[in-house]
Amino acid sequence: MTGRNAEAASSFAVYGTDQGGPFVLVSDHAGRAVPPDLGDLGVSAADRARHIGWDIGIDGVGRHLAALLPAVLIEQVYSRLVIDCNRAPGHPTSIVTVSDGTPVPANEGLTPEQIARRHESILHPYHARITQELDARLQAGRPTVVVALHSFTPEMRGVKRPWHAGILHNHDSRLAHIMLDLLRAEGLTVGDNEPYALTDTSDYTIPLHGEKRQIPHLEIEIRQDLIAGEEGQKAWAERLARLLPEAWALFCATHGSGQTGGNSCNAAGAEAAHTQGQAHG
Ligand SMILES: [Zn+2]
Repeated sequence: MTGRNAEAASSFAVYGTDQGGPFVLVSDHAGRAVPPDLGDLGVSAADRARHIGWDIGIDGVGRHLAALLPAVLIEQVYSRLVIDCNRAPGHPTSIVTVSDGTPVPANEGLTPEQIARRHESILHPYHARITQELDARLQAGRPTVVVALHSFTPEMRGVKRPWHAGILHNHDSRLAHIMLDLLRAEGLTVGDNEPYALTDTSDYTIPLHGEKRQIPHLEIEIRQDLIAGEEGQKAWAERLARLLPEAWALFCATHGSGQTGGNSCNAAGAEAAHTQGQAHG
């Protein structure tokens, strides 16, 4: 597994290396850290370890995937209970006071200054790092795909969720539909905008970095019991390292003649994706 890169800053960590492939991996909810001045947020260690604190298992999947593709992975290091980096600043569930029945006392009655501090120290640096990665690639005229990695709890409010994984999409569903088909062809039960639908307001990362910039994108959710241990994390990373280049090659074969925000499927990109697919097929 590739270790954390030297450039890692306080609110995000960067793993993997860019070796010419199209993918940029992002993990909004991989982290569990709490800034020292917020103590334990008033939440027990057991509750902070639940799905409300982070996307269980997605750290291992993302880091293995970054090493396998290879690709750069940008991870948020702080718990979503401190601030949810997949919510726009000011969104009602950006800084929650209750999550899945668990109160978060440290988030009660925050002053505008306290909220601004979390934006400036955690939310903005993370998204600025993603923007920097995408800007550099687009300026170099390179094919680029943003892949947002998440995991979901197997049971919510007493209802068991049947999907092994989900693909979330909204304004541009082209790559999502291709990936849905590839995952279903593996014999998996895959949610189409399940267990959540991607919307302009419930999400921030893909609307901001993918949809607004017309950069091809995917939002992938994996059920947490499948990736709670390292074996499952590796298996899912291997699956995604095989299917993502395949999905991109199919996307380019179908939609490659059109320009998407200056980010085209040029021959080099399609060839790189094809080679990657073979390497891991
Ligand atoms: Zn998530």
